[in-house]
Amino acid sequence: MNGWVPGERLARRAGRADWDVDPGGDAPRVGVLALQGDVLEHLRALGRVGARPSRVRRLEQLAEVDALVLPGGESTTIGRLLVIAGMLEPLQQRVADGMPVFGTCAGMILLADELDQVERQPLVGGLGVRVRRNAFGRQVDSFDTLLQVAGVDGGPMDVSFIRAPRVEQVLADDVEVLASVDEHPVVVRRGPLLASAFHPEVTDDDRLHRLFVDMVRASLSAAQ
Ligand code: GLN
Repeated sequence: MNGWVPGERLARRAGRADWDVDPGGDAPRVGVLALQGDVLEHLRALGRVGARPSRVRRLEQLAEVDALVLPGGESTTIGRLLVIAGMLEPLQQRVADGMPVFGTCAGMILLADELDQVERQPLVGGLGVRVRRNAFGRQVDSFDTLLQVAGVDGGPMDVSFIRAPRVEQVLADDVEVLASVDEHPVVVRRGPLLASAFHPEVTDDDRLHRLFVDMVRASLSAAQ
């Protein structure tokens, strides 16, 4: 066969991450902030729902994506690393310009405008909520639950809350509460910003990632 090199295709596949599959066409480019936290599971989930995922570690990479996921992890660490990487203000600017962002757990904390604590930590902001960190207790109080999320069809989601935050107060009129636990919002949306207090990426349930990628598609076609 012309140009065929034995084993080449296998080697190419072996060197490629399992999430790095070309979705083809006009798949939205969705980055995952990869400074700290559970990045890989988000990359995989985004790939499964037809986005073109990539890691965002540096400022230049932020310019190359249509949307961004802020993963779970430790919000103080992620915030500090954003400052060190010189990405906090550029990211705040992209949010102000309308870039869709999906924050999960620590990512929800980073999207908050205010925190229920005296210590200060760097925040991206924009979600129009006040958030309380570790609102359900410590690591040992982490739990799984079935949660009905508005806008997500097909029954409740099976989700994990791991040292999870929750919304203590909604600060803006246009914040939509999509799900609550004990009357506290745990999934909220404000325009192109989506946040969940739990980790949707650790289960096989991709419906919230699908909802986000639909939001990204809608925002891209509105911008055309
Ligand atoms: N408790 C962590 C924080 O405050 C968030 C936990 C998580 O992302 N699973 O940043």
